[in-house]
Amino acid sequence: MSQKNSPDFPNQSPPNDAYVHLDDFEWQPFPEEFSEGGIRWKLLHVSPESGSWAAIYDCPAGSSFNAHVHLGPGEYFLTKGKMEVRGGNDEGGATATGRSYGYEPCNAQHDKTYFVEDSEFYMTFQGPLKFIDDEGNAIAVVGWEESQGLWLEQIGAA
Ligand code: ZN
Repeated sequence: MSQKNSPDFPNQSPPNDAYVHLDDFEWQPFPEEFSEGGIRWKLLHVSPESGSWAAIYDCPAGSSFNAHVHLGPGEYFLTKGKMEVRGGNDEGGATATGRSYGYEPCNAQHDKTYFVEDSEFYMTFQGPLKFIDDEGNAIAVVGWEESQGLWLEQIGAA
């Protein structure tokens, strides 16, 4: 079944009908409001009933996500590359290398998530991300609804 450019994608399909092949969709730029260095993403699924959402990210060497707090836990799978979370090993955080799995607990704060090499990772978010400024004030809260809205707009299905 092809869902290419379907306005139904991905939410209006029943959750058990959410097969997505990565080649069905082009990478879209992840907003520069929340990242630097040309990160791209594909939204794979949203679950309004649980508030969770799943996406895959393509992160060139030298790119990073801006400071954020996970308002729900999340699990990632780094398929390739090298990712420094919370400053990486040298600053008390973690340096993940592909292929690897990681769990980020609720309220985990990531001041800068930095990609040392060309990297790619999948992540399921059990709740929104709160992007914050230097003083810890909220800039934006991004959950399944905001992610879906952005994605549908980017693929021309909104
Ligand atoms: Zn994070």
